[in-house]
Amino acid sequence: MNTPIDQARKLENVRYDIRGRILDKTEELEDQGHTILRLNVGNPAPFGFEAPDEIMMAMIRNLPTAQGYCDSRGLYSARTAVVQYYQTRGITDVTVDEIYLGNGVSELITLTMQALCNPEDEILIPAPDYPLWTASVSLAGGTPVHYLTDESQGWAPDFDDLEARITPRTRGIVVINPNNPTGAVYSTEVLQRFVDLARKHDLMLFADEIYEKIVYDGRSMTNLATMTGRDVLCLTYSGLSKAYRVCGFRAGWLAITGPLERASSFIEGIKLLANMRMCANVPAQHAIQTALGGRQSIEDLLLPQGRLTAQRDLAHTTLNSIDGISCQQADGALYLFPKLDVDKFGIVDDERFVLDLLESEKILVSHGRAFNWIEPDHFRLVTLPNTDDLSTALERLGNFLSSYSQ
Ligand code: PLP
Repeated sequence: MNTPIDQARKLENVRYDIRGRILDKTEELEDQGHTILRLNVGNPAPFGFEAPDEIMMAMIRNLPTAQGYCDSRGLYSARTAVVQYYQTRGITDVTVDEIYLGNGVSELITLTMQALCNPEDEILIPAPDYPLWTASVSLAGGTPVHYLTDESQGWAPDFDDLEARITPRTRGIVVINPNNPTGAVYSTEVLQRFVDLARKHDLMLFADEIYEKIVYDGRSMTNLATMTGRDVLCLTYSGLSKAYRVCGFRAGWLAITGPLERASSFIEGIKLLANMRMCANVPAQHAIQTALGGRQSIEDLLLPQGRLTAQRDLAHTTLNSIDGISCQQADGALYLFPKLDVDKFGIVDDERFVLDLLESEKILVSHGRAFNWIEPDHFRLVTLPNTDDLSTALERLGNFLSSYSQ
């Protein structure tokens, strides 16, 4: 019998192109001995950003007591630390019972979409998005519906477009703030419009705030759940990966606020799925209390002369000096999402563009359509490499584009 062993049909609509074909090509080139400058993943560690010492110590010292499973929602001390943190941010109605720790925000996104979606359910997700949202809704059997964000308005949501896409089947709206890939940080006015729409159409809100501590130029960032009150269900997702530079520890959390009684069945579903996977990585949970209390070393990196600010500024200025590229400044997160003049370069396939750049210049970026953007006219790069590496990469990009045509 030579029957092919197929993947499940439910994966047919699941896309996660930021780690797909392009990564295979990268590995092939690396196997041939090429050095690839990877500007494609928001993973601070390989770029020389080390985790704060106290986080390493919290994990190491607690390792002997972290051998067993813990409560499937997570360690009580870590969940209490998350509650206290949110209280200081102005989320007043959060309780320790409604905090769930996960193996990164990623696990909690997929888990909550699994607990929520029926085949007829629609979830509104920004375009461009962090594609795990779209993939998780598709995997859960729901329907992702993309609402546009507007580059000319600093990538703010287009609320006319958003409202036009609300149907009786819509269950909730995903808000990624600060945004990956665009770097937008939403004002309280923008956040209020999300809350008003949720209230008007009886929707829940999913606030992906993993970059909440990475905002530039002294800006402040408001957590959506400070504005949702007791009548709008809000699921807030965040974690240690980015601000504390420990993506590999897999430490994230979810806070559920609002009308808990009304959402009791959904919450039971979340608990069921949390129980089924026993618990999140316990050693990493021991770092959460230490991380959230005390000095926040990320703030040094965001000062006007801080490393993250300097890299963002250099990348932004250099990109805008390249003929055929325009780029909005990022107010938060770790990325820029530049626009390509597709007419000038004849670009019809942005993945082809990224592969061509990779093969020719040994630089890896991600194509915009991998973020569910609607046109083949953007790409994303991370601003994590040091300024020397960024300068080298962008100089090569400029040279490449000076003769590129698809
Ligand atoms: N949400 C957004 C917007 C992200 O950019 C990422 C990772 O890049 C995640 C969630 C997942 O983070 P974690 O490492 O906590 O799984």
